[in-house]
Amino acid sequence: MPFVNFFTKNRVFFLAKYKKAHEADKSCFFSFFLYTTLPYMHSSFLPSQSLSAYRYCVVTLGCQMNKNDSERLESVLKGMGFSGTEDPKDADVIVLNSCSVRKSAEDRIFGLSREFARLKKTKPELLICVTGCMPGRDRDGSLRKKLPHVDLFFSTKDMILLPQRLSELNPAFRPMDNMAADYLALRPSYQKTFQAFVTIQTGCNHFCTYCVVPFSRGMEVNRPLKDIIHEVEALSTRGCIEITLLGQIVNHYRAPDPHYFSSNNPYHHNDFAKLLWEVGRISGIQRVHWTAPHPLYMDEEVIDALGLPNQVQYLHLPVQSGNDEILKRMNRRHTRAFYLDTINNIRIAYPRIAIGTDIIVGFSGETDAQFYDTVTLYRACDFDISYTAQYSERSHTVAAKAFSDSVSKEEKKRRWETLQTMMEQTVLKKNQAYVGQTVSVLVDQHAHGFCLGNSSEMKRVRFHGEASQVGTIQPVEIFQAEEWILHGRQKK
Ligand code: SF4
Repeated sequence: MPFVNFFTKNRVFFLAKYKKAHEADKSCFFSFFLYTTLPYMHSSFLPSQSLSAYRYCVVTLGCQMNKNDSERLESVLKGMGFSGTEDPKDADVIVLNSCSVRKSAEDRIFGLSREFARLKKTKPELLICVTGCMPGRDRDGSLRKKLPHVDLFFSTKDMILLPQRLSELNPAFRPMDNMAADYLALRPSYQKTFQAFVTIQTGCNHFCTYCVVPFSRGMEVNRPLKDIIHEVEALSTRGCIEITLLGQIVNHYRAPDPHYFSSNNPYHHNDFAKLLWEVGRISGIQRVHWTAPHPLYMDEEVIDALGLPNQVQYLHLPVQSGNDEILKRMNRRHTRAFYLDTINNIRIAYPRIAIGTDIIVGFSGETDAQFYDTVTLYRACDFDISYTAQYSERSHTVAAKAFSDSVSKEEKKRRWETLQTMMEQTVLKKNQAYVGQTVSVLVDQHAHGFCLGNSSEMKRVRFHGEASQVGTIQPVEIFQAEEWILHGRQKK
């Protein structure tokens, strides 16, 4: 390769190496020679290590969507010839898939990247990358300033550019041919054969005032129906029996290719209900979950589709608050009465269904009386589970600009504890109804002679069983119920 081309192509790598060597030993001339001239003198300078000897480590924080994005990232890195490791110390490339929903998640990324910066001191060629929600909303570059030891920041949708970016940083890495034009078209490296996440949509247009998603992931983009169906069919062929459809507002799905819906699809208005019907026809898929829906789009068709044969008997429907004034300030666009009506309609149609929710306590200016409305809504809905967060202000959001974070930390904690206690009491009481009942359990773990898995209502169930039952659905009769686990015996 002519020197000029070779050096131009690899200048970032060599100049970075030169800079590091120069900083380390100050032997300026030797370093410059070593890193910029020597390489072109003999091509054998290029690392002789085979690409499969390079290792990546992906560290994921946050929601299921991030986990599914990490599965795509792994496909990209494997496509470059790398192999995976769970130990960052063994890695040549570490990718941190970040979450920005709460301050604590961001703090964890700062802590981890500082830890990896220390690794870099003993392994200077290590590349540290940060993707996910944090780079996606780093408009002013402040994240980059805070993490100077990070080599590469890229937003989730830019993961298709990762091979090119990495090979610019280290020319021994190979860019990929035939890269997908859109990151959602990348086939994930599924973690399990019998369960898989299937992303159907990314981004969100709703702009709830506390939420970073529209900034970090951008506006809503829906995946073509055809691609989703092909992915689920392929999963079924390789033995997958449970899928979870993922979207920021999954029930707001709008197929970009609606002509692909079957002519005998019984739903007419809601593309998400239509999608559930299409997915329900794919043989082998025995369970379908979806998360997270928005109350506004739980229309009659979606509620009807909850009754399709392979739908799980669990619905996660975020409410965030039980007070209308707070809901308005959150820009949730639904009221307390609307939410209660929706839950009521669902329970009339499916009396056995388990329902979970998300709640934020201590949102800007939330009074005790307003919090109490959330407590009464919780009682009225009789939730099986709640993921309750103490409000933390996120920069750039409307709430951070328009309202003050006026509820004290102590008060947020007190409200959180009130709901946690209520949740534990409610779920313990509700779980007693399972004693004597038979539930179907998808076994996902086996240890010490016991199988563990989730029932269709998303209750964790434990029973005596064999390791060979992992990945199968078993009928289990419940004889004892605790808050977070049901004990049972397998029904023959
Ligand atoms: S609906 Fe609201 S909370 Fe959910 S992703 Fe969109 S903006 Fe965020």
